Amino acid sequence: MPEWTKTSNYIDGVRRAGSGPEVPVVDPSTGDVIWTYRADTPDTVDSAIGAAARAFPEWSRATPAERSAVLHALAAELGAVAEDLAQAETAQTGKPIRLSREFDVPGSIDNVSFFAGAARHLEGRAAGEYSGYHTSMIRREPIGVVGSIAPWNYPLQMAVWKVMPAIAAGNTIVLKAAENTPITTLMLAEACARAGVPAGVVNMVNGTGPVTGEALVTSPKISMTSFTGSTAVGRRIAGLAARNGTRLHLELGGKAPFVVFDDADLDAAVRGAAAAALINTGQDCTAATRAYVHHTLFDDFVAGVAALMRRLRLGAPAERGTDQGPLVSFQQRDRVAAMVARALRDGAQAVTGARAPGGELVAGAYYEPTLLVGADQRSEIVQDEVFGPVLVALPFDTDDEAIRLANDVPFGLAASAWTRDVYRAQAAARSLAAGTVWINDHIPIISEMPHGGMKASGYGKDMSAYSFDEYTQIKHVMSDITGAAAKPWHSTVHLSVEDPAE
Ligand code: NAD
Repeated sequence: MPEWTKTSNYIDGVRRAGSGPEVPVVDPSTGDVIWTYRADTPDTVDSAIGAAARAFPEWSRATPAERSAVLHALAAELGAVAEDLAQAETAQTGKPIRLSREFDVPGSIDNVSFFAGAARHLEGRAAGEYSGYHTSMIRREPIGVVGSIAPWNYPLQMAVWKVMPAIAAGNTIVLKAAENTPITTLMLAEACARAGVPAGVVNMVNGTGPVTGEALVTSPKISMTSFTGSTAVGRRIAGLAARNGTRLHLELGGKAPFVVFDDADLDAAVRGAAAAALINTGQDCTAATRAYVHHTLFDDFVAGVAALMRRLRLGAPAERGTDQGPLVSFQQRDRVAAMVARALRDGAQAVTGARAPGGELVAGAYYEPTLLVGADQRSEIVQDEVFGPVLVALPFDTDDEAIRLANDVPFGLAASAWTRDVYRAQAAARSLAAGTVWINDHIPIISEMPHGGMKASGYGKDMSAYSFDEYTQIKHVMSDITGAAAKPWHSTVHLSVEDPAE
């Protein structure tokens, strides 16, 4: 790793080392420790929050054009180190280099570019004389210091999704990456410094959730917590934030259904399901996890997906020919394996996968692409997030049944419907309880459009102009336009007082 990464944090424009316990960063394809840093302790977190608070007055008053220029410069800086970012992302997560190069890094840069433009489009509704004798206007203002916590599945993208709308809107931020994937977040901090993001506007701390993370979210000096991660941790954070009444934005877990109606293009659905279930080794909050397939197509769908899954090349993440790398950690691999084992014990059958590969891959946290059938709708494997390369296929008979089963989980982040019938597609789009519904596709995201959940998947939006609703607050300014000392409404209070103007 480059020399500069020997520091765990970035505060007030300066890189420093933490003073807490050592945290190893492990390459999950080999088990090798590729970097060790010392975690940031609560007093370091507090100093980061202090730096963000000091930077807030000037940054919040910078013009949209000034903020936009800095973000454009940041996009250029990230573009200049795109290959380094891709290599580092792959090293710390085990994701295939093709995914880092073609999705994580360009997607992150595009998001920065989007917010460079969006920073100049913060708009409100029309001003007007709603009372007849005042002009009312809306000010959209930044909130203050945002405390943000990101997960390990797309470390750079998740950091960008948190930081960009916050600072484009004039807030300042302290972000904690997941403890096992801090490297590209620190590289983002470096790029902020080179791009001229003023000191204190973006600050990064690193360490574990219970210590470093909780120091951030429980601080009374932050005005908002923005969290992406599991539903369990999100709910804990919501409880902690409630103590201070801190504003919250929660992007939590998912369990996306993939509904294949009887008129669907089967080839498209098969290819789509294998890709959407296995992207990022299934460690994607919107990954297809439950395929509900009309019974007339079920056997062919299962055979097609299984054939594609068996053809995937598992291997070293840095090799261009690798389709699937290891999971992010041995702990995550073992968690996935245990869930699949319980599903098999409870009556599901494995069509393919359901095991860790042998040979030279035993040194890494690998798990074979897995297709299960025969699971019960109420079972853990259908109801809970697996976050691994596992797809469960279940047959259905009627459209209503498919939608009911698709919605019959606690989560509501994403869903897809596969059909050639426009009426069916629109009916599914309306009925599926999810923050994103794809028709005849599953996974693509775009900076202009919002991403966020319903139900146990959280609330609030990342990406797009909708994210400004999270990171700004509305102020109503009401100005008298009559100049009269005695207002009509005064009569409700002091009828007996003579109008001093008379
Ligand atoms: P996680 O909840 O275990 O950890 C997420 C972050 O929270 C990490 O930085 C961790 O250190 C921190 N954390 C843990 N305990 C904490 C605490 N008590 N206080 C403060 N911070 C704490 O999630 P993960 O395993 O890193 O990521 C996978 C999860 O993220 C999955 O559930 C996935 O669905 C979800 N996710 C959701 C979205 C979305 O947009 N909805 C996107 C990506 C990932």
